[in-house]
Amino acid sequence: MKVIRTIKDIQRELNERRKEGKTIGFSPTMGALHNGHSSLIAQSIENDDISVCSIFVNPTQFNEKSDLEKYPRNLESDMKILDEIGCDILFAPTAEEVYPPDFVSFSMDLSGLDDLMEGKKRPGHFAGMIEVVHRLLEIVDPEHIYMGQKDFQQFSIVDYMLKTERMKTELVVCPIVREEDGLAMSSRNTRLEPNIRKRASNIYKTLKASKDWLKYIPVKYAVDKAMNALDISDFEPEYFEIVDGFTLKGIEDYRKSDYVVACTAVWAGDVRLIDNMIYKKDS
Ligand code: AMP
Repeated sequence: MKVIRTIKDIQRELNERRKEGKTIGFSPTMGALHNGHSSLIAQSIENDDISVCSIFVNPTQFNEKSDLEKYPRNLESDMKILDEIGCDILFAPTAEEVYPPDFVSFSMDLSGLDDLMEGKKRPGHFAGMIEVVHRLLEIVDPEHIYMGQKDFQQFSIVDYMLKTERMKTELVVCPIVREEDGLAMSSRNTRLEPNIRKRASNIYKTLKASKDWLKYIPVKYAVDKAMNALDISDFEPEYFEIVDGFTLKGIEDYRKSDYVVACTAVWAGDVRLIDNMIYKKDS
């Protein structure tokens, strides 16, 4: 695997590959890689000729400085993982490389998709996320971008950007990879205290249970019941919402929506975890 640090070098490398007629698949990450990330790269390897993974802990999408500082970083072991899967190129730029002094920031109206759920709780997060994804796409210019369903609102917003800006890159969404007990894999899981980690699968269990509850009770009661189920010692649910998968707005009647997703954010001790489950998607 080639490890590339500068924009000039990655563009030179990818231009060569493009001349050979190769397609490029791109998986942006913030490192501390686990099997969730690996699944994106494995999908990219299957679909595209050249697979690029970026590792960049983007300062502009952290609204809490302490969260940015605490974010786990282990480039050495990440390189090993990527090498073993068969990733072709790791792009690991510095912040100065991504945001040089003459950088012209990208922003766009996200049609309210950024005001809901995560957007309410993390002001500025999606503006920072969209800015970095746009920047990385400008640099890598891939045929496909691979993102996880784990960050439902994130990929929905990226999809909106790609379509609204008529960018050539197509989004491929990969399913959530979970631990054996159901906890969604996350780089943040390593920060969970053992006695909290043991009970963190309650998030997955609640997501599954609330789908059943919807057979018998209205959405708003299922939401209240889920919030109660998540309100256990050391845990604090921030939100549990049952939304339309296209608009991300809360729904009232399960039967009236073709695409229903439950999304939640829960504090587990001092670690904030997010998860979601698609309840219904009629094509
Ligand atoms: P991150 O490094 O957390 O910014 O995540 C980089 C990409 O990996 C995003 O597209 C995430 O949605 C995806 N991802 C993270 N965790 C998982 C998971 N457990 N399953 C599938 N994709 C994931």
